[in-house]
Amino acid sequence: MGVPTLGCDCAVCTSADPHDRRLRPSVLLTWREPSQDGQPSQDGQARFVVIDTGPDFREQAMRNRLKRIDAVFYTHAHADHIMGLDDLRPLSFLTYRENGPIPLYASPETRAVLERVFDYTFSPDATYPTRARVRLEPLQDRTTVHGVEFIRIPLLHGTMKISGFRFGDTAYLTDVSAIPESSFALLEGLDNLIISALRHDPHPSHATVKQALGWARRIGARQTWFTHIAHELGHEATNRTLPENIRLSYDGLSFPVNLDPIHLKPAKPAPAPSHSATPPPVNP
Ligand SMILES: [Zn+2]
Ligand SMILES: [Zn+2]
Repeated sequence: MGVPTLGCDCAVCTSADPHDRRLRPSVLLTWREPSQDGQPSQDGQARFVVIDTGPDFREQAMRNRLKRIDAVFYTHAHADHIMGLDDLRPLSFLTYRENGPIPLYASPETRAVLERVFDYTFSPDATYPTRARVRLEPLQDRTTVHGVEFIRIPLLHGTMKISGFRFGDTAYLTDVSAIPESSFALLEGLDNLIISALRHDPHPSHATVKQALGWARRIGARQTWFTHIAHELGHEATNRTLPENIRLSYDGLSFPVNLDPIHLKPAKPAPAPSHSATPPPVNP
């Protein structure tokens, strides 16, 4: 809902601490492409990828002086994660001239909602002349954007199947209420984990601080940041109760990440099939 929460005058919503003013969650990842010989270079093309375009996308883009976007990844299609899509328009006009429409990576479920909500953008009959120059792309398990690989992390948000993302040594998992066992294997060796922790009271589709702490300990990233924080959690007061390497994130938080290719251990082999007299069916 953002903090201050509309209609609320609790201690956090009226706090003077700027950390207690929270726009809706999103992250921007930026890097520079290596030079021709593959070496890190200050002259390489800068790339900008956003995860989710919530209702505050325009304000966030202004604060970060965002001038271009190379791709957007969507976690799921709730309003607080998609409603800023239309504000991609001015940036998409710039990117379009160089690279064509901005790719938006979305699951089939998310895509269906985006096509419905923004039909004037995506409908084959759309004629609105200044619609966003964007194109929906299927979200694969692994997607490479200008040399950086994004691994989809399957998560549950209540009964909804949603996506988190891993890039290099960092993962962004928002709106989580459960992490399937198989997803933990994709989260090994993290330096930075960003994971949602809504509040202390249970919620049907969001993790409590206690649940998020349990996952953070199990995943064992060097540093964990909580995000998607409701007005029940004051910044300073909550941080005092957390382990030293686990902190509430805040608007404008920025840190370096390592985007070297990810080498995950191969998944455990499935148990060997028991011997049987009938040979396995063969696909024609
Ligand atoms: Zn949600
Ligand atoms: Zn959300």
